[in-house]
Amino acid sequence: MSDMSELKPESNSKITSGLNYFSSQLTHQHKKLPARSMKVHTPHGDFQTPCFMPVGTRAAVNCMDGDQLKNAGSQIILGGNTYHMLVAPGVEVIKSLGGMHVMMNWSGPMLTDSGGFQVFSLSQNKKICVIDESGGHFKHPESGRLIHMTPEISIQTQKAIGADIIMAFDQCTPEAGGEISALKAMERTHRWLRESIETHEKNNQSDYGLKQALFGIIQGGSYQKLREACAQDLINLPLDGLAIGGEIVGFDMAKTVEIIQWVKPYLDQVPQKVRYTMGVGLHPQDLIDMVQEGIDIFDCVAPTRNARHGALYHGSPVKTEEGWVRFENYSEKGRLLIKKAIYAQDENPIQPDCDCYTCQNHSRGYLHYLFKQGQALYSTLACIHNVRVMQKTCEVMREVIQENS
Ligand SMILES: [Zn+2]
Repeated sequence: MSDMSELKPESNSKITSGLNYFSSQLTHQHKKLPARSMKVHTPHGDFQTPCFMPVGTRAAVNCMDGDQLKNAGSQIILGGNTYHMLVAPGVEVIKSLGGMHVMMNWSGPMLTDSGGFQVFSLSQNKKICVIDESGGHFKHPESGRLIHMTPEISIQTQKAIGADIIMAFDQCTPEAGGEISALKAMERTHRWLRESIETHEKNNQSDYGLKQALFGIIQGGSYQKLREACAQDLINLPLDGLAIGGEIVGFDMAKTVEIIQWVKPYLDQVPQKVRYTMGVGLHPQDLIDMVQEGIDIFDCVAPTRNARHGALYHGSPVKTEEGWVRFENYSEKGRLLIKKAIYAQDENPIQPDCDCYTCQNHSRGYLHYLFKQGQALYSTLACIHNVRVMQKTCEVMREVIQENS
């Protein structure tokens, strides 16, 4: 585990300058695979990769508070999305509450999303959002007030949020529309990226005086040439880490792996920079497949969303003879559907070999009953288990990489 537990929640106020920096260091490289492990330092503590970030789009990871996230093995969270936080509660409220670390009582490292993907999604309906050269123009969903999201506003909002890692504002490459519209979106993304960097370089600290790292996003949709051109451009820019984004990333895993393989020769030229696939982690095996290609961090809403809808991960990461890891499913697709009547009188935990709070203390029968009754406690207990399985998978990968480096 990282040393974040030593930091108190009030650490968001100025902490000693000795800790107030960002660094990423490649500590272990797998002998036979691109899989690797890094030590990343942020002003809110360290984390080790590979690691999974639970997602709190609106400054809350569904049904789990900071202690529950830490106890499930989470080192860093995706603490909020800039678009959603700008809409509610708004920058002024976040600042008056001391930034999002204090607001959420999360003392560990945090990453925020730039809002680029939300602006792109909203622009599918032109009545809600229009994208032009300067950014996205959208109506506040409740007040109707017009909001103009530019690269500068995205970065400034992320400075008010106070995350340790912030993302450049970009336009997601549309999958529909062919190569010409993809190229147009990518050129705009590059202009916005430079604006994001310019804003960040004027002052690379949060509004609370703590150093922030800026990551850029490799776009280019499903086009190899565009992805390669984007990667080539990004590795030469003053960025602290590189993300791989897009509509398809995380949803089509075969394509996601192909995209990583296209850009990997460029990423390998900057081995000390953290690599992040955005929105990956529908299933624990997806994390293993990403790390096998040399990826360090990932985020996904699926573990908590699946949990709330009654799908509990059912399986464990196991070490293979070849020096790697695979996720062994204990039931079909590695999921236990708790609503099934067969669990009503089942006194076993979700899985006896799981060390999560839920499996240590509660039975399938109780979870089945809570789920059927629509009790809020069900969601918390279910989310704890699913997040723990993701984190356990990362722990086993870290172990195996160290053993085989
Ligand atoms: Zn469990």
